[in-house]
Amino acid sequence: MPTHIAVIGAGAFGGWTALHLLRAGHRVTLIDAWGPGHSRSSSGDETRVVRCGYGPNTVYTQLTARAIKLWRENEQRWRLKLFHNNGVLWFSTVRNEAWDKAALEALREHQLPFESLRPEEAARRFPQINWDGVLTAVLEQEAGFVLARRACQAVFEGFLAENGTYRQAQVEPGTITSGRMGPLRLNDGSTLAADQYVFAAGPWLPGLFPNVLGRALTPTRQDVFYFGTPAGDSRFNESNFPAWIDNSATRYYGIPGNQWRGFKVADDTPGPAFDPSAGERVASPDALAAARAYLARRFPGLAQAPLSESRVCQYEMSADGHLIAARHPEASNAFVLGGGSGHGFKFSPALGEQAARWVLGESAPPREFSLERYKNGPAGVGERK
Ligand SMILES: Cc1cc2nc3c(=O)[nH]c(=O)nc-3n(C[C@H](O)[C@H](O)[C@H](O)COP(=O)(O)OP(=O)(O)OC[C@H]3O[C@@H](n4cnc5c(N)ncnc54)[C@H](O)[C@@H]3O)c2cc1C
Repeated sequence: MPTHIAVIGAGAFGGWTALHLLRAGHRVTLIDAWGPGHSRSSSGDETRVVRCGYGPNTVYTQLTARAIKLWRENEQRWRLKLFHNNGVLWFSTVRNEAWDKAALEALREHQLPFESLRPEEAARRFPQINWDGVLTAVLEQEAGFVLARRACQAVFEGFLAENGTYRQAQVEPGTITSGRMGPLRLNDGSTLAADQYVFAAGPWLPGLFPNVLGRALTPTRQDVFYFGTPAGDSRFNESNFPAWIDNSATRYYGIPGNQWRGFKVADDTPGPAFDPSAGERVASPDALAAARAYLARRFPGLAQAPLSESRVCQYEMSADGHLIAARHPEASNAFVLGGGSGHGFKFSPALGEQAARWVLGESAPPREFSLERYKNGPAGVGERK
């Protein structure tokens, strides 16, 4: 039976969930306080890394493998290029054999091609990097990066074209009585009633449900830098360089020049707690100095590169880095979806597809996404990027 479902949040998670619910034949109202992929949302930057190797967490490899198919299918449908398949290069100065072994096994299982590179071979293939001290390197071929902000807008346009309804409003959850949530309260004073409510409010989730998610999710400040490459030099552009993740003790990652923007570099370490609505987004001089020092060491050709842009974003960090996808413990018609923790964008098309089924009760989310895991305190190994 078609039902009316309200999805709160038009970022990567809410947008794709709303689209899949619509495609499953339901009436969907998508609501966002500021708009899809707006600059304060976690989905609002230019680009996001798409890698499939996830150590022992095969659930994410599976989601990402499916997501790559969905990125491609929808690109064709929308006649738009969002997924840039120029590979992801991971490398590290520390050995983590168990993680690498599990990640590569999962890639093999999902028929995702990769090359393990000896450091001297990596140095020959990618002379842009100073390989001193690097012990392991893997090039994932069915990987790359996706245009993030643009993808949220494309999903939104697709949603409207397929007859979804959009409201721009700030939402407060409805009152819960007898195990069900009542109509949402909108900031214009109106209410909105639906059969089911999906809260995909990213870093705003703990504020919406402090009792349920206050301890489970923390928005953390993340500084991101774009550096200008030398004039006429295309060594650091997507045509000549993959997206990359330095899996060493401090994890840096980056995306080569694309869309005529700069070379992106950021530290993946979760920063201090951050207010996603009121936080000022001025890059920290210390984070900039650290990014410059990293570049000078690992990418000597960019040692003098000027900063061309910076952003302050926030991870919606769950305590263990895993997603949160669960029914509200006190309201059977409300579902919370979030906790992307700095790695959620890549698989958002497949997550939305699964989430639509979870919301409709057709299947259940994996145990590691449950809220029950917080009963005995956070557990598990952090999963990021
Ligand atoms: C710096 C940075 C780098 C990252 N790098 C990667 C990467 O390389 N690869 C990767 O896969 N992932 C990466 N991620 C993670 C990924 O971007 C996020 O996990 C994902 O975008 C989260 O999407 P979301 O829809 O949950 O949240 P959001 O995009 O924040 O969307 C939530 C939406 O809810 C709306 N909302 C909130 N409260 C209300 C309300 N009360 N009423 C109405 N609307 C409301 C907001 O306006 C917002 O639009 C990164 C994240 C950051 C910040």
